Amino acid sequence: MATQFLDDVIQSHRVIHSLDVTDLAAGEHKFWFRIATNALSQWQYLPVLVFKGEQPGKKVMITAGIHGDEYNGVLAAQQTARSLIGQSLAGTVTIVPTVNLTGMLNHSRDFFSTDPDCSPANLNRFFPGDANGNEGQRYLHALWHNLLQPNADFAIDLHTQTSGTVYPLYVFADFRLESALRMARLINPDAILNDAGDPGVLETVWNANGIPSITIEVGMGRYTEQELINRTVNGIKNILNDEQILSGKVDTIIPCIEGSDIVSIRAELGGFVLPQVTMMDTVEEGDLVAIQYDSFGDEIHRYTAPTNGTVLSHNIESIRAPGSLVVRLIK
Ligand SMILES: [Zn+2]
Repeated sequence: MATQFLDDVIQSHRVIHSLDVTDLAAGEHKFWFRIATNALSQWQYLPVLVFKGEQPGKKVMITAGIHGDEYNGVLAAQQTARSLIGQSLAGTVTIVPTVNLTGMLNHSRDFFSTDPDCSPANLNRFFPGDANGNEGQRYLHALWHNLLQPNADFAIDLHTQTSGTVYPLYVFADFRLESALRMARLINPDAILNDAGDPGVLETVWNANGIPSITIEVGMGRYTEQELINRTVNGIKNILNDEQILSGKVDTIIPCIEGSDIVSIRAELGGFVLPQVTMMDTVEEGDLVAIQYDSFGDEIHRYTAPTNGTVLSHNIESIRAPGSLVVRLIK
């Protein structure tokens, strides 16, 4: 794989069809990555930022916006990029802040295809994509092969909880990979889940390809949480310091909850749910966690903790469909 430049320049940035950061001169680069056409045969482009140090070192890939409504992840990626301007680096940091273009334009988690045979889809179940698959799978194939995979010794994927619900600063890591667990701890999050991964998830595919990776959940979907964004950027820079890509001091790791199980309490019927717990509360089996009301405002159900645990997520949008998330515990 080599960096392939096209003749096009869009909004003063050059267009690439593939990226190999080893080809680039040291310094700060902004490109448009030509990923795929839409159904009108117009090319679509992802913004890519590359910070390449004068000194050799590891390559890190930071992605965000695979789910199009998870803006705190996007904002953390962008703020990380701004914080790297003018810094002296050993190695290369590549940042792709807005992966799912159609999802972002629709405030949606999903990828939207114009193909009448394709329903909106969760892109983070189809990595590494398929050159002969549907529109979303082809999009991921180009992303993985031409942009992501060739440019990483380790990787960080930024998300938030799904819209309508909230997380603290929460990291997924496969504890079997020592370097992934260390990265998770260096973020200094509120909670870490030992997660073996699921097929098609970007973190799982990175790990399966020998590139240690973590997924960071930066609070809630859609709405800005600046403090969590700041903590995420500090955590990413802590990893860059630890990997000696940056030359700053590594912050001490502050112990947090490290769980191996999550328990989700879901709406048993539709209605309006008011949580009776707040984030990171400790609960015991049988404790009241939420009360549900019907459309008259009459109480219809009380939810209790099925087990001891710590509150990792709860709904913030009151209206709940049957089966939707009310409270999630980590233990
Ligand atoms: Zn997500």
